[in-house]
Amino acid sequence: MFKNLSLKAIAFYTTIVLTVFFSLCMAMVFIGSSNGLPLLSVGMLSLILFFLVSYFTLKYVLEQYVFRRIKVIYKIIRNTKDSLAGIEEKTDQAAFMLDAVEGDVAEWAKSREDEIETLKTLENYRKRFLGNVSHELKTPIFSIQGYIYTLLDGGLHDDSINERYLKRAARNVERLLTIVKDLDEISKLESGELKLQIQKFDLKEVVKEVFLDMELKAKQAGIALNFKSGADQPFIVEGDRELILRVLDNLLMNSIKYGKEGGGVSKVSFYEMDKLILVEVSDNGIGIEEKHLKHLFDRFYRIEKSRSRESGGSGLGLSIVKHILEAHNQTINVRSTPGKGTTFGFTLEKAK
Ligand code: ADP
Repeated sequence: MFKNLSLKAIAFYTTIVLTVFFSLCMAMVFIGSSNGLPLLSVGMLSLILFFLVSYFTLKYVLEQYVFRRIKVIYKIIRNTKDSLAGIEEKTDQAAFMLDAVEGDVAEWAKSREDEIETLKTLENYRKRFLGNVSHELKTPIFSIQGYIYTLLDGGLHDDSINERYLKRAARNVERLLTIVKDLDEISKLESGELKLQIQKFDLKEVVKEVFLDMELKAKQAGIALNFKSGADQPFIVEGDRELILRVLDNLLMNSIKYGKEGGGVSKVSFYEMDKLILVEVSDNGIGIEEKHLKHLFDRFYRIEKSRSRESGGSGLGLSIVKHILEAHNQTINVRSTPGKGTTFGFTLEKAK
């Protein structure tokens, strides 16, 4: 019955207790003095008793009342059971208690604010992402639609365009597939669904494999693929071989796509650090203006839109690269001079 009393009721009951005790003290003084006890001693004794009883009653009542109120606040701001454990301790140090509670509540309010900010950013990001995805998908779909309708409207029997249009439609289907595959990969990387298969491997061998895959494309673009001198020995690292191959594939592919047509060079270098190996992929191609550098790893960010589209780029390559390296707890950076070339550098852990 005394559990959820209002402040008024608490004051009322406390006053009753104190009044009753005060009456007892008065009676004690009266009885004592009428029995011949010295008035001063009985008076002093009752005063001390009254002081002590009042002090402990008020302390108990205030603590109980404040503690219960604070417990409710803590129940709201904390979501674990054990977070309530320390409050009783705090109520013992009444002087600091309210300060502590105020601090905790302020901290809670700040964390809520941060949470809301993060949610807002994510929401904006999601909206922008959806917009980008539909925009990216729209372009090839409209092209395919255009070619197919032209063929259906009689173009199929026109030998001057039928094969050409079909080939163009097929190229756009390829583009669609690249975008969808890259989106799939990026969402797996972001959701943490993709588990790394960590193993020891020779980075140099992986680069050689990528060089081999790209030989034809590089030749067509007039670009030479090679290692920087001093890369004769193996470079054994720890990581997910398939994913690192994807990183090198992306970087080298870009160095061909945005390289110097005819007379271009894409070079891979390795540098030994204490516990890491730094890999650099450089080209002497078109380069990148400084203002673009900080956005380069954003999804769908393209500087050379036409060149990127022409070569079937999804604009997702570098953000996939960044995600893969972050999953390895490593970083990637870029240096570039327009007209001179670009260098991407990333690190990997040496095998123990
Ligand atoms: P894309 O599929 O368009 O190549 P990426 O994410 O791989 O997408 O690259 C993003 C953009 O960065 C490219 O569109 C291009 O403008 C620029 N870029 C990437 N690599 C290079 C490079 N080696 N030289 C110059 N520009 C580059």
